[in-house]
Amino acid sequence: MNCNEVKNKMIFFLEGSLSDSDWQLTNKHILECNDCKLYLLRIENMLEIINKQKNIEPKPFLYTRLLARIENKEKNKAIFYRKVLQPIIISAIVLFAIFGGFTIGKSYTSTSSSTQISETYYWNDFSQEPIEKAILTDNQ
Ligand SMILES: [Zn+2]
Repeated sequence: MNCNEVKNKMIFFLEGSLSDSDWQLTNKHILECNDCKLYLLRIENMLEIINKQKNIEPKPFLYTRLLARIENKEKNKAIFYRKVLQPIIISAIVLFAIFGGFTIGKSYTSTSSSTQISETYYWNDFSQEPIEKAILTDNQ
């Protein structure tokens, strides 16, 4: 067995999942080869670190604390809506109503001015009555 073969089987060697003959060949090589011995030690260290990481328990109440923080943010959003957005929306509606009233009023005054024109036209239709005009001018 050469070094590469041993290194490929190192994990299985540590796990104990090699067949007896493979395990004995690998073990024999490791005992004789310093390079593979160092490799074995490095892998053992890495596995130890990984196991330590796995064994770190999550902080108690981390989930509930996170949940509380998220809920607080939601509350803040609601407060933001109530204290900031709502007045803006209401004032926008009021402004819209006021300007809408102005435009309606303007359109109303424009129609009333047209009726005024027709009324003045009605009172000034003297020029359209040529007979009366002729009588009146004849008398003078
Ligand atoms: Zn070796």
